Amino acid sequence: MNTSGLSSAEPRAYFSALGRIRMLAGDPALDFANTLHWRGAQQMDFLPDYQALAEWSVPAGLLSEQEMGMLVLLAPRFPRAAEAAHSAAIALRTAWRAGLEERTGGGPNPETRSPSSPLLEQLLTSALSDPGLLMSAGARREDDERMLFLPVSRIALAVASLALIPAERAMGRCEGDPCGGFFLNTSRSKPRRWCSMDSCGNRAKARGFRSRMMAEEIRKPGD
Ligand SMILES: [Zn+2]
Repeated sequence: MNTSGLSSAEPRAYFSALGRIRMLAGDPALDFANTLHWRGAQQMDFLPDYQALAEWSVPAGLLSEQEMGMLVLLAPRFPRAAEAAHSAAIALRTAWRAGLEERTGGGPNPETRSPSSPLLEQLLTSALSDPGLLMSAGARREDDERMLFLPVSRIALAVASLALIPAERAMGRCEGDPCGGFFLNTSRSKPRRWCSMDSCGNRAKARGFRSRMMAEEIRKPGD
């Protein structure tokens, strides 16, 4: 567990057995969507279990270190509640990603688009149905298995603020193939194209450079 990056230059990151995932989206709700992540030709899930969910929530800015530590100790004592909380988070992520694909220019299957919003609203309502949980989160409740839903509630708050409150927030999608990471486009003049310049942006630049070099070599053979 590492929450590196206190400077604004280096985004915070979650380090897991699958590797590092950086908080590049500019919003925790979008970073949450990006925990299902393309690396090469493989789609990886950075939230395979409850512990990962709790640990990821710290660099995402949704849990304090102290809350995470308490939840990681609580989870093995209430494994069913922990599993239910993890399942709720994954269901929310699936519906949220479907909603985002709709917003950012279409998912692969238009047939699945229309039901995404009612389902998302239903999942948000359910995740936010215990306001006491959010209000009293500062007070440690080490014997209360409902505390295990704290990360889900915090994620739901973040998602709700993007999904339900109308605002001029331009969401974009990384052009890296097959990245497709979601992000907030905060620049008015220059549309953001990549989840990060030092990964997807550079790869695209390098590809462009290589194809230009090849074109040059074809024009000037033997030089
Ligand atoms: Zn990308």
